[in-house]
Amino acid sequence: MLWRPRATANRIDSSFWHNPDAEAHVYDFIIIGGGILGLSTAMQLIKAYPGRRMLVIEKESGPAQHQTGHNSGVIHAGVYYTPGSHKARFCLEGNRATKAFCEEHAIPFAVCGKLLVATNELELQRMQALWERTAANGLEREWLSAEALREREPNITGVGGIFVPSSGIVDYARVAAAMGERFEAAGGELRFATAVTGLEERREEVVVETSQGSFTTRQLISCAGLMADRVVRMLGVKPGFTICPFRGEYYRLPPVHNDIVNHLIYPIPDPSMPFLGVHLTRMIDGSVTVGPNAVLAFKREGYHKRDVSLRDSLTMLANPGVLKVLMANLRPGMVEMKNSLFKKGYLQQVRKYCPSLALEDLQPYPAGVRAQAVSDDGKLIDDFRFVNTKRTVNVCNAPSPAATSAIPIGAHVVAKVKELLET
Ligand SMILES: Cc1cc2nc3c(=O)[nH]c(=O)nc-3n(C[C@H](O)[C@H](O)[C@H](O)COP(=O)(O)OP(=O)(O)OC[C@H]3O[C@@H](n4cnc5c(N)ncnc54)[C@H](O)[C@@H]3O)c2cc1C
Repeated sequence: MLWRPRATANRIDSSFWHNPDAEAHVYDFIIIGGGILGLSTAMQLIKAYPGRRMLVIEKESGPAQHQTGHNSGVIHAGVYYTPGSHKARFCLEGNRATKAFCEEHAIPFAVCGKLLVATNELELQRMQALWERTAANGLEREWLSAEALREREPNITGVGGIFVPSSGIVDYARVAAAMGERFEAAGGELRFATAVTGLEERREEVVVETSQGSFTTRQLISCAGLMADRVVRMLGVKPGFTICPFRGEYYRLPPVHNDIVNHLIYPIPDPSMPFLGVHLTRMIDGSVTVGPNAVLAFKREGYHKRDVSLRDSLTMLANPGVLKVLMANLRPGMVEMKNSLFKKGYLQQVRKYCPSLALEDLQPYPAGVRAQAVSDDGKLIDDFRFVNTKRTVNVCNAPSPAATSAIPIGAHVVAKVKELLET
């Protein structure tokens, strides 16, 4: 049985009742984070536990203001991920679930397919490995010769390619907003402009301190994105990882190039740096973006090159695990920084497969910041990661394709909550 706040009020610490609004601040479930993962979880939790008091707490003035509102908008198919990993399973499932959710809620999306393009012999070899991986991950795909590639994409040059038809595009901020609306319609509460500042896990409840007062909940779920490690630390738990922010900078092509490609165009990644390599993305508004790169950011929620936070920089640079990763990737890191500062270098990367683009085609477009968890022993954590305590479930590493995977990740969290409540 779940906690009934009124009937069991006398079990709450007496100091709680000094607040006259205290009873109004007692919940069965509180979810931190109004990004796509928090809202997907909230939507599914209220379906699993109808009639329970649930609250989503978000520090910004509306939903989806960080990663969820600053990404490429790709509904990934699941090409790269290690077979059997959370990423591989949730992405495949999420690809279908996102499209179904959009259909149900009349959210525009398009299934334009993705083309991975090899531009030299080495990339062709790597493409073979990806071909095998796509098979292991259960994806429909087609091997394209250089000629077949040219037929499909006259503006793209390469020695071969893999076409994956199930990739699509969508505006994830709209998806997240619709999830929030569904949660509210089912009786859930959303509180914006409320930052969680402290947490205390007790035997029967978790006390959530915020900029707008104190709340108590039977069970807490955090989906705090770029702040995931800080939320876990608030619980007094050592997370075992630190969030390292990487800014992803984009350019937008001028409208005259809106039809330059028919599909999403991706380079073949270096397997040791799978998130490097800018792609050409058709956006759901009809425009085409180039990007993102991956530049070390000195502020977690800093979207401009000049943004620096002393606290965020110190957290990062004082962490031996992060330093180890940065040192191990010094060269590619410096190249990314150089290409970020000098547009010419950035252009070169995309001209490898789209040679007709010129410097003036790269027009400004807002950046995003990725929350990448780095383990204390100095590894980029690849798979989605969750840290649980008796009364909390914390989504800790949820980089791309977590927007695509939001519905299965939410379902996974709800299953974990059920399990914790039953033990
Ligand atoms: C450049 C870029 C491109 C990407 N492209 C894709 C893509 O094409 N496809 C894809 O599937 N994925 C993509 N991703 C990944 C995807 O965007 C993220 O994995 C996903 O949005 C994560 O959602 P989230 O809810 O965990 O995080 P967020 O959207 O960052 O939400 C976390 C929320 O928690 C709130 N919060 C944090 N701390 C507190 C606190 N103390 N109190 C209250 N609220 C708090 C924040 O304000 C924020 O709103 C991309 C990411 C980036 C950055």
